[in-house]
Amino acid sequence: MIVDLHCHSRCSDGELSPEDLINRAADMGVTMLALTDHDTTQGIPSARKQAELKGIQLINGIELSSVWNGMGIHIVGLGFDLEHPVMVEAVALQEARRVSRAELIAERLEKMGATGILAKALAIADGAQIGRPHFAMALVEMGKVKNIAAAFKKYLGAGKPGDVKAQWPEMAEVIKWIRDSGGTAVLAHPDKYKLTRTKFHVLLKAFVEAGGNGLEVVTSGMETTFRDKMAKCCVDYNLWASQGSDFHGPKPWTELGRLNPMPNTVKPVWEQWAL
Ligand code: AMP
Ligand code: MN
Ligand code: MN
Ligand code: MN
Repeated sequence: MIVDLHCHSRCSDGELSPEDLINRAADMGVTMLALTDHDTTQGIPSARKQAELKGIQLINGIELSSVWNGMGIHIVGLGFDLEHPVMVEAVALQEARRVSRAELIAERLEKMGATGILAKALAIADGAQIGRPHFAMALVEMGKVKNIAAAFKKYLGAGKPGDVKAQWPEMAEVIKWIRDSGGTAVLAHPDKYKLTRTKFHVLLKAFVEAGGNGLEVVTSGMETTFRDKMAKCCVDYNLWASQGSDFHGPKPWTELGRLNPMPNTVKPVWEQWAL
């Protein structure tokens, strides 16, 4: 069994269409996959059709943007009811927020000399949920920076003018949407928040109090010592353990289904969906 419960398609900031993503997952031997696009479930129906053709078990997924203590926090929702009115309404809200946020990002980048960037970023997004990666590509296209990494470093990364979080709901609200629509709420990529040990446990307590019930224990690029700490958190806080590549496109450092092993002390989240 090869399980990957975190990846992106062209419906958000991934490179592949949902169908091509499924085809690639099949080539990699993935048996269970969750497509977790940022703040949208748009790709799931076409992914599901292709998954059925390829014999992959597709779990409904989404990666929702939220804030906690002024920090951007990503919560992965897994196994919720796609048609649940709470989720349908939440997704519509998040999609609308992405549009107004893009306008604000553009306004700030215009002030830094990136004239006409909104039209460029929208053209690059081409109907996908617009996000900072599309602005990063636009900045590269406009010759403002050499590459995506530089765009984040100078314009879009944490604390830079294009890092707009004001639109996002509180983490607790996002968790409630997922739980109310029958899903498991998973704290995504815990190694990315750059928190002290104490602060991380404050976050985890708030997450659990709000109904959060899963933690990503294995992700691409996570140190194994950090993974083992996350496994212990799953035991201590009674959380499901999840794993996912956070694949956005073919890159030397991420591949669908290519992950370090899950420690055997934890309850794997996918046990809930075992056939
Ligand atoms: P957004 O959802 O609009 O806040 O954009 C966040 C996305 O930008 C993440 O999901 C990553 O795919 C991408 N991202 C964040 N930081 C970086 C970075 N330093 N370099 C490249 N991509 C990044
Ligand atoms: Mn992304
Ligand atoms: Mn994320
Ligand atoms: Mn992601």
